Amino acid sequence: YKAKQTHLGHIVFRPELDMRSDEALSLLGELRRAIEHQELRLFLQPKVCMASGEVKGAEALVRWQHPTRGMVPPMKFIPFAEQTGFIRQITYWLLEESARIWRQWADSGLRLDLSVNLSARDLIDSDLPAHLNRLLILHGVPPEHLCLEITESAIMDDPNHALQTLEQFHYMGVKMAIDDFGTGYSSLAYLKRLPVDELKIDKSFVMNMQHDSQDEKIVRSVIDLAHNMGLRVVAEGLEDRRAWEQLSALDCDLAQGYWIAKPMPSDQFLAWASTWQLPAQPEAGDAVATR
Ligand code: C2E
Ligand code: MG
Ligand code: MG
Ligand code: MG
Repeated sequence: YKAKQTHLGHIVFRPELDMRSDEALSLLGELRRAIEHQELRLFLQPKVCMASGEVKGAEALVRWQHPTRGMVPPMKFIPFAEQTGFIRQITYWLLEESARIWRQWADSGLRLDLSVNLSARDLIDSDLPAHLNRLLILHGVPPEHLCLEITESAIMDDPNHALQTLEQFHYMGVKMAIDDFGTGYSSLAYLKRLPVDELKIDKSFVMNMQHDSQDEKIVRSVIDLAHNMGLRVVAEGLEDRRAWEQLSALDCDLAQGYWIAKPMPSDQFLAWASTWQLPAQPEAGDAVATR
């Protein structure tokens, strides 16, 4: 099991954590309570079109609003939730919440795209496609407005099973993205067979591309690979304007990162989107003018 160590206050989730230990039982109890008491929160981070500067949609990112520990980030409980099977309830909750949010957007006249992350375990959940289909119908969400983000590693866990599930999503009309592209173990032979629509370049490459020419070459190559295969490409981890300039020069389709906006509580998203505009390019004489 490849997950990193996860600390939740005094409780430490380690890959080798004995699932019958007191630590594991206590974390298990807390997670169960978190779901029952609705302590999970859905945050949204915008995805912006690089050619037009328009907001195209958002990625849903889960947080745990813990009564004493504050806002717990996903990497501190998602690996444990995957290990224990709780991820199923978390994923179902996120999908339902996302469908509700999409409906609110549509009711206020906006047609945006929403992305939700799936884990390896979700890809072998044979109830998930039908469940998702019901949710989309219930909330009147056109399937092409939902994108499921899946990492290469999650697919490679059980590639044949994953492929079957992805084909069902594809048949339903739901979009799919390969997340953190370039960091996992995958093969181009699989990429060719997967019914995906989008590649997301991992933020480690994007964040290093200004200082490391190898990373810059990787980013450039992934953009070309995606376009040659007819996929759209998203860069995550844009932290400054230079990254924006560099990526738009490379023809990257969509951008996501702290420079645009950090993930925000879902009820703040519409207000944010209505005021967003691409910051104007600083004029050449600006530095002189402020002297
Ligand atoms: P991810 O899907 O690759 O999500 C992108 C992560 O990068 C998010 O971290 C986001 O806050 C962060 N990020 C975005 N822009 C920037 C930037 O400019 N700079 C930096 N340094 N970071 C940036 P977050 O929300 O902590 O999520 C971490 C990971 O946890 C996600 O990576 C995803 O793999 C997982 N995750 C989050 N929510 C869910 C969920 O609902 N279900 C599942 N299965 N996994 C989730
Ligand atoms: Mg993601
Ligand atoms: Mg990612
Ligand atoms: Mg990641």
